[in-house]
Amino acid sequence: MTNLLGITKSDLENYFLGIQEKKFKATQVYEWLYRKRVFDIDCFSNIKKEIREQLKHDFDMTFIKIEKKQEDDLTVKYLFRLPDDEFIEAVVMMHDYGISICVSSEVGCNMGCAFCESGRLKKVRNLETYEMVEQILLAEKDLGKRISSVVIMGIGEPLDNYDNVINFIKIINDAKGIQIGARHITLSTCGLVPKIYELSKMPIQINLAISFHAPTDELRNKLMPVNKVYSIDTLIKAIKDYLQVTSRRVTIEYVMLSNVNDSIECARLLAQLFQGMNIYVNLIPYNETNHLEFRRSSKTKIREFYDILKKEGINVTIRKEFGANIDAACGQLRGRENR
Ligand code: SAH
Repeated sequence: MTNLLGITKSDLENYFLGIQEKKFKATQVYEWLYRKRVFDIDCFSNIKKEIREQLKHDFDMTFIKIEKKQEDDLTVKYLFRLPDDEFIEAVVMMHDYGISICVSSEVGCNMGCAFCESGRLKKVRNLETYEMVEQILLAEKDLGKRISSVVIMGIGEPLDNYDNVINFIKIINDAKGIQIGARHITLSTCGLVPKIYELSKMPIQINLAISFHAPTDELRNKLMPVNKVYSIDTLIKAIKDYLQVTSRRVTIEYVMLSNVNDSIECARLLAQLFQGMNIYVNLIPYNETNHLEFRRSSKTKIREFYDILKKEGINVTIRKEFGANIDAACGQLRGRENR
C-alpha cells in the first residue's frame, strides 16, 4: 500500500480525480500533513468522513522510528529503525544561517568506495519516498525546530534510487509540502553519468554535488569502482552538460586522504580538469573510520592543496567539521548497530 507521506501532490491530485473528487483535496491533505503536522486521517476535519474512510483504505501512514540519538553542541545524529528492522542514519547540523539535515537514500550502498563506511554494508534495498520524508519530519519534531536545508548525502547513492529520490525532492520542495527551496536542496552523487543527464532536465533545479576525490582515472579507479564504468572524461562531459542546461554552479567534493590524493601534483591536475568551469571545489577533511589504511590529511596539507587550487583560479572551500566525536561519518552508527 502507498504511504500517504510518500505521494507527490500531483499524484495525490490524480488520485482524487480518479475517485471523482476535486483535486484541491490534495492541497487540504498536504496542509494537514505538512503545515499542521497531523498524521491521523480521522482528524482531517475539512474532509468528509466518506472520503477519509476511502483514504484510510487506500493509504497507510507507517512511521519509521528514532532508534538512537547522539548529539553534541552543533550536531544531532539519528539512527532510524525502518518497518522491516533495517537501520539508516540522518545528521542534523546547526549553522548560523539555519539548520541542515543530511538524509540517507538507501539501506546500504553498492558503490563500494574504498574509504567509505556506508559501502561496507551492501545495498539491501532502496528507501521508499516516505522513509526519506519522515527522516525530516521526525527530526523536526524531535528538535522542535524547522529545518532550512536538505542534503542527500547520507547512506546510499541517490541516483541509484532515482524515482523515489525525485519524488522526495518534489514533496519537500512543494509550496504546500515541507517547502524547502530548490536552492536549499543538494544531491550528492559518486557520478552515475546517465542519471546526471536525466537530473539536468528535472524542473526543480537543485544543487548538484559530485564526489570526485581523484584527478586521474588510475587513482579514481582504485578509490571509486564506479569510475571503471564512467571515467573522469565521461563524468566531466556530463557535468558540462548539467552546467549548460541548468546554469547552476556544481560542487566538486574532494575528500582529503593522507598520502593518497593530497599531493601538490593532484591539486594541479584537479585544477586543470576544471579550468574555466562554473564549479567550486569543497575539500573534505576525511572522517577516520575502520578503514585503517586511510588517514586524514594534515591541516598543512589541506591548506597547501587549497592554496594551489586558489592560485590556479579555482573556487575552493574547506568543509567545516561537525560531530567528529559522535561518529558522524556516514554509516558509522548503522555499522555499529549491525555488528
Ligand atoms: N553516494 C553519494 C552520497 C553519499 S556519500 C556520493 O557518493 O556522493 C557523501 C559524501 O561523503 C561523498 O562525497 C563521500 O565520498 C564522502 N565520504 C564517505 N565517507 C567519508 C568519510 N569517512 N569522511 C569524509 N567523507 C566521506
